[in-house]
Amino acid sequence: MTDKERGPQSEVTPTLFFRDILGQARALGYLAMALSQGRLAHAYLFVGPEGVGRAAAATALAARLNCAGPTPEGEACGVCPSCRRLAAGTHPDFYLLRPTSEGRQPQIKIEQIREFRQLTAYPPVGGGWRVALIKPAAALNDAAANALLKTLEEPPPRHLIILAAAQEGDLFPTLVSRCQKLTFAPLPPALIRQELEKRGRPPAQAALAAALSGGSLGRALALDPEVLLTQRDQVLSDLDTLSRGGAADILAWAQRLAKSVAEADTFLTLAALWYRDLLVLRAGGPPELLAHQDRLPELQGESLSGRPETWLTRLLALSRAQRHLAANLNPELTLDILGFRLATT
Ligand SMILES: [Zn+2]
Repeated sequence: MTDKERGPQSEVTPTLFFRDILGQARALGYLAMALSQGRLAHAYLFVGPEGVGRAAAATALAARLNCAGPTPEGEACGVCPSCRRLAAGTHPDFYLLRPTSEGRQPQIKIEQIREFRQLTAYPPVGGGWRVALIKPAAALNDAAANALLKTLEEPPPRHLIILAAAQEGDLFPTLVSRCQKLTFAPLPPALIRQELEKRGRPPAQAALAAALSGGSLGRALALDPEVLLTQRDQVLSDLDTLSRGGAADILAWAQRLAKSVAEADTFLTLAALWYRDLLVLRAGGPPELLAHQDRLPELQGESLSGRPETWLTRLLALSRAQRHLAANLNPELTLDILGFRLATT
């Protein structure tokens, strides 16, 4: 299982309509065509990072397949009994397979797959389609994956199995080969920012969250805007201290930050975005492109007085440190070196 999949195991909130899914025109267009031609595969592998619409596409597909009166545009109606049950999370034919919380690493176990396999002996309760979403599919343990393989080899009629995975390599090739693969791409930050603003976030907060989201609307929504702003202010004050501080300050800073790799990673990302913003401004880019929009006056001042070579050197030092932390190198030593680089460039 990858880090991206290991995040908070929030339950799936059903999305009934494809039109509510942000981006993903290619994957959704493919599904719409398969639906309209009656050529759905019996199993799909939705590949993409957490929070980009894989589960939403699965529930919208389940809604559309079971809806009593789909619209001419190919969407579910949203008001029939099936749509209402799906929205309420009580649809008897939508089956969510999530890892059980027992054990050190959450796993989807063979008992869960067996239970689902027993169901497949009977037609869907509502007379439509039974849709199973397995998320994250990388949590299937070996026994569960083998049991699932049997179902995929002999697909029961009017059953649709959707596996959601961060990457294909997380799964057994035998499973992958029996699914139709659809890729869900990370979303462009501009699109995420727009959506956050639509949901009432002030533009400056939306820009910062979008820049830190890694292309995942789910992650952007999960970031606490207040905490984010506090972290950012701390990062800017740290950068200031580093640039004028002595060796003792640098070592103390590294020691503090090394205690949490997650916090160190946030520092590296936020600091990198600061230098990126300076480069954008110096190159004549509009303020809407900035991540730290609410600090525009400071950015403008520094973009006039600073040197692009310095910002680039610092960006490279930050990205090197990020790589070293990701490779589990000694965090304190990595940050010591970074601190001295930031202080002397
Ligand atoms: Zn309906």
